[in-house]
Amino acid sequence: MSTTTHQPGIAEAQQHFAGQDVQSYRAAVVHEFNGPLSVELVPALDLVTGQVRVKVEATGLCHTDIHAANGDWPVKPSPPFVPGHEGVGIVVELGPGVSEVAIGDRVAMPWLGYACGTCDHCVSGWETLCLEQKNMGYTFDGTFGEYATAYARYVVKVPAGVDPFDAAPLTCAGVTTYKAVKVAGTRSGDLTAVFGVGGLGHLAIQYAAIAGGRVIAVDIHDDKLTLARELGAEFTINALEEDPIEAIQKLGGADQAIALAVAPKAFEQAYGSLRRGGTLVFVALPADNEVTLPIFETVLNAITLVGSIVGTRAELRDVFALHAAGRTTVIRETRPLDGVNEAIADVEAGRVAARIVLQP
Ligand code: NAD
Ligand code: ZN
Ligand code: ZN
Repeated sequence: MSTTTHQPGIAEAQQHFAGQDVQSYRAAVVHEFNGPLSVELVPALDLVTGQVRVKVEATGLCHTDIHAANGDWPVKPSPPFVPGHEGVGIVVELGPGVSEVAIGDRVAMPWLGYACGTCDHCVSGWETLCLEQKNMGYTFDGTFGEYATAYARYVVKVPAGVDPFDAAPLTCAGVTTYKAVKVAGTRSGDLTAVFGVGGLGHLAIQYAAIAGGRVIAVDIHDDKLTLARELGAEFTINALEEDPIEAIQKLGGADQAIALAVAPKAFEQAYGSLRRGGTLVFVALPADNEVTLPIFETVLNAITLVGSIVGTRAELRDVFALHAAGRTTVIRETRPLDGVNEAIADVEAGRVAARIVLQP
């Protein structure tokens, strides 16, 4: 657990930021898909009702930001845009009508940047399914910059005792895998297979273990499997050296498999590793948008297939509380925002221990 955080006092922050009028700031901008990001000055837009301006301290590099920059998905962002949705920073300016946060608060800015608050999904604890939602770093500019604009209702306060550089990866990788383990239904004694030990996977292992699962970690890099064991995985499999389906079936089959690897093949292997009655949770979003799964075996073995998309503000609070209580460890490496292109190349090549956190 990290306890090195400095929670600025409200008075201190108000004094520090009073009269500061942010006109422009440096940010990493996507100008065209698959091109390098350009770190440049962008104009600071006036805040509209409900918005706050946040001075970004730390912002994690999620593989989703890479998909965004590459235009990998059927629904694409519109360049130019600023990616980033694992942002943590200090509120420095309040737009009209903001009462949820105050200047000086440390907040997290997640993927779910805005939702309507009144539709059936929003009022039933499924704000992540809201059709009116706007996504940070995708539908509007994100947190890869010195400042970011967010909607006060959709930021989550970072509690004292959580280091902002830990809070950043927890804001997407953490809440997403916390939710995925919930959706998987992992219970004490279950065998839970985690496919992909990257930013998401290294936290999924910990949440599955907290839920009582016996964790099997699968990756294609040995160093990631070593880390997986340190974080509580009981079994590890290098999918390039061993067939994960065979290896996991030998253990009795997984009660749940969580697909976090950016490769359709890993989803198919995760499916094949299930025990009868098992559950496969789809989380990763590879550019190659198809998997082939058998109908007959799914029916006869009563397999559950379920998609899982990030998590709610309430779940992010749970994630921060678990971390503040010392129950999770965030493996991260800090790099300057200017190094964003090298950081992306390193994530794509699997050269990162778990998460890179960019510092503007
Ligand atoms: P990452 O690059 O940090 O981790 C991916 C891991 O998968 C790496 O450790 C890599 O070595 C491993 N891997 C690659 N190919 C593999 C294979 N064939 N078998 C086993 N392991 C393999 O990425 P991340 O930031 O953890 O994100 C993972 C995916 O999840 C991305 O597609 C991202 O867009 C998606 N995502 C989804 C949600 C959601 O809400 N559903 C939220 C965040 C991220
Ligand atoms: Zn993400
Ligand atoms: Zn809604």
